[in-house]
Amino acid sequence: MPDAAVAARSSESTNSGTTQQVDVAVVGAGFAGLYLLHRLREAGFSTVVVEEAGDVGGTWYWNRYPGARCDIQTIDYGYTFDPELDRAWTWSEKYATQPEILRYFGFVADRYDLRRDIRFNTRVKAANWDDTSGRWQLVTDSGADVSCRYYIMATGCLSAPKPPEIDGVADFKGEIYFTGRWPHDEVKLAGKRVAVIGTGSSGIQSIPLIAEQAAQLTVFQRTPNFALPAHNGPAPDDRKTYFETDRAAYREQARWSLAGVPYPQEMAVSWQLNDAERRERFEKAWAAGDLVHILTQLWADQAVDFDGNALIGKLIHEKIRSVVKDPGIAAALSPHDHPFGAKRPCLDTNYYATYNRPNVTLVNLREEPITEITATGVKAGERTFDVDVIVFATGFDAMTGAIKAVYPITGRGGKSLSDVWANGPQTYLGLTVSGFPNLFMITGPGSPSVLSNMAVSIEQHVDWVVDRLAALRDAGFTTIDATETAQAGWAQHMADCSMLTLHRLANTWYTGANVPGKVQGLMPYTGGVGPYRSICNEIVSRGMLGFKLTGPNVAEQCNDGEVVRLQPDVRLVLGMLAEMNLPPIESMGALGARDFLTEFNKGRPAGRPVGEVGTGALMGADGPLPYRLYRPATPGPHPIVVYFHGGGWVLGDEQSDDPFCRDICRRSGMIVVSVGYRHAPEHRFPAAAEDGYAATRWIAEHAAELGGRPGPVLVAGWSAGGNIAAVTCQLARDRGGPQIAGQLLICPVTDCTFDRPSYTDNATGYFVTRSLMYWFWDIYCSPADRTDPRVSPLRGNLAGLPPAFVATCEFDPLRDEGIAYAEALATAGGSVEQLQARGHFHSSLMMVDVVITGVSGRVKMAEALRGFAGLPRKLEASGEGTSPITVNAAAG
Ligand code: FAD
Ligand code: NAP
Repeated sequence: MPDAAVAARSSESTNSGTTQQVDVAVVGAGFAGLYLLHRLREAGFSTVVVEEAGDVGGTWYWNRYPGARCDIQTIDYGYTFDPELDRAWTWSEKYATQPEILRYFGFVADRYDLRRDIRFNTRVKAANWDDTSGRWQLVTDSGADVSCRYYIMATGCLSAPKPPEIDGVADFKGEIYFTGRWPHDEVKLAGKRVAVIGTGSSGIQSIPLIAEQAAQLTVFQRTPNFALPAHNGPAPDDRKTYFETDRAAYREQARWSLAGVPYPQEMAVSWQLNDAERRERFEKAWAAGDLVHILTQLWADQAVDFDGNALIGKLIHEKIRSVVKDPGIAAALSPHDHPFGAKRPCLDTNYYATYNRPNVTLVNLREEPITEITATGVKAGERTFDVDVIVFATGFDAMTGAIKAVYPITGRGGKSLSDVWANGPQTYLGLTVSGFPNLFMITGPGSPSVLSNMAVSIEQHVDWVVDRLAALRDAGFTTIDATETAQAGWAQHMADCSMLTLHRLANTWYTGANVPGKVQGLMPYTGGVGPYRSICNEIVSRGMLGFKLTGPNVAEQCNDGEVVRLQPDVRLVLGMLAEMNLPPIESMGALGARDFLTEFNKGRPAGRPVGEVGTGALMGADGPLPYRLYRPATPGPHPIVVYFHGGGWVLGDEQSDDPFCRDICRRSGMIVVSVGYRHAPEHRFPAAAEDGYAATRWIAEHAAELGGRPGPVLVAGWSAGGNIAAVTCQLARDRGGPQIAGQLLICPVTDCTFDRPSYTDNATGYFVTRSLMYWFWDIYCSPADRTDPRVSPLRGNLAGLPPAFVATCEFDPLRDEGIAYAEALATAGGSVEQLQARGHFHSSLMMVDVVITGVSGRVKMAEALRGFAGLPRKLEASGEGTSPITVNAAAG
């Protein structure tokens, strides 16, 4: 086999004294370690793999408990790097058993002749970086220590079982087993009284099979988990056909998907579906027996919105009640403390039905906590359960456990990794740690790892690392070290991503909450496999951004910086827009641009229901103008917000910001009247400004007819609409009314100069460009008029204006003039609140149900509007009977 020939040439390690000298040392011979060895050999690096176990397989070597299987369909859970290998192995079931998966790893090891470079039954105890030689020294518990240039920890996310943390375990006279360290010899449970502690995936897989064997099974449950039936059997036809039709395309789609399994992005959101439609989708997912399906394909907001998610929990509770005969036990088994998917759901076979068996007892530890383990059994609450066997299905010190078990890991300047991670793991990409040169982790904290099909993530990590090592070598570099800036940027990006999902709302091993005393924080990367891959690629294309590279005969290279400064969903949106390769809007002509906007808006989510949406006409400066009115579902009269849409005084109409108007109506509990003011080039300056003022006056005068609260109105607007809102406040002050209680200005145009830094920094690449702004200005306003405060309100008199809330976005040419306006208002004595949305672009705060990280910004806007109107800032505290809307994201 050619691979073996390559391997024979490349993997020559040497022993100097008692130290084995290699280019690369890999720790762990699981999924990751095996592929690393293969790739490193192919790349010509001498390599040794050090493995504590007696053979290959990692997870699948250790977890031999009854019922152990994968929970990602096996069609997706395997190596894909070699199509020949892919074809040479056929799985027998939809979800393969542990023995079959272990056979697969043996098959892979044989096929590429891997075992001869693996030192089994050997544990790496400590690792020290020597700056002088530029090498790592690994201390092992048997045989020679290892000296290597690169040290790669493929030690696994779920490989360090957690201690039981229960008093008295050592006193127990019966048999004790850990699911994560199950014996290789047969464990006989027939006729025995067995206790299982723990109801995570391992417990839920093993409990039905243990119940079939044991005389009596007592399950000790601390937290109920969501479990769905695996419906195991042959691989389902739909997936098989999809796969067989074009294997390469299927694999490629998986690589760029969010979870590492090729499923499309679901577009329909929960509130667009009625009960019957939601139930139909749910039943289909339940019948499919597929975690990724049920986690991604029900509705688009299931993983990001608390309310959209809660619908699923209720449907699963129904399923549990339909299977478990005793209502009390069904209730105890029904999860209530975490959103569905925030903790890893389990795949089961007969799990819930097992509780109908006469030989099975459930002990709810929330009511009867375990106090101790005695010589004869388990004491919980006031009861003692005498047993012959205790099975600890209590899980792992996940993600960091196996890494920190190598102690110490000492990097540059004698720094210990444990100290550096004292407040939680810090990494760049989950692959490297600043100050620990030439150390890599496969699926370390900060990588998508456990939130994905790990097969896909592992292959990506390994390919990226090995390709980088080869490229460094070719360029003459011998060390690579992440910079602190890059690492801090990754931490920020991780935090931004975590605000998008509901994982942070659950106490799980993802957050370290399962290990007493462990620093808590979401450890895996929640941004998805495809986005993560594109970020890794971007780092390379930007000259190894965030890494310092050194070598004996080459100049040091350090292209420092943060790889992602946009909010994660903003990055996706801008990426999609870039892929559409649209012509510049300014090249379309005004009419073409309006048609484009209309078409473009058809593709966005429709916006959520409000009490009522009506249309009508009001009197503008020079004739009637259309308006669209959004009324809350709560009894009125409500304060009125007069709203001006964006579009550079050229595009848009009273409907074009419809989702935003709905959102603000719902969040503020106020009427929003969106005004269809006149546009250029048909109606140039000051038509839009004068219409804005006239419309506001008309609405204030007709507030009661509109069902609104008489008295001052509020004004709001985005972009050019923000400009009109600001101008309206100045005109209302100068022209004797109407009274305006507050102004909400979102990314407003406030001035006619283009020399502020934001115009240069964000000139291109963020949808609203400098040249588009030039075009808008040219169409609307001749140069001679541009300093008029009716188009450049920053140049007007700013005293005596209504209180303001000014929102600006970091990656917007208009950012600095918005900030300048807010500061000038404050200087003039006005009350001003600012939101400077980090990582957002001009449109992101308006992209309702698309840019989720814009939610908290809109919450603040709604609160400000309520404050201006003299209402309690928080809608739910107002007692107006409106259900609160979930706040699930931050806008910086
Ligand atoms: P591991 O397989 O954990 O291998 C790490 C190896 O490193 C181990 O063999 C360990 O002995 C060795 N090691 C650690 N420290 C040292 C040391 N200091 N010295 C020497 N050796 C050391 N993921 C999925 O995507 N789909 C699934 O269906 C799925 N099912 C799972 C089922 C179970 C029961 C468990 C526990 C996990 C499951 N996972 C699943 C996650 C699974 O861990 C990964 O899919 C994958 O197998 C991890 O491979 P790895 O090589 O990164 O780590
Ligand atoms: P786990 O999900 O962490 O579950 C551990 C269980 O033990 C939890 O119910 C936990 O309760 C309980 N527990 C822990 N310490 C306890 C204590 N001191 N007293 C009482 N109860 C205690 O661990 P796991 O089941 O081994 O699964 C870990 C991960 O491995 C899974 O999430 C999955 O990713 C993977 N896995 C996959 C499969 C598969 O189907 N392919 C199978 C097994 C594992 P609390 O929830 O209250 O902490």
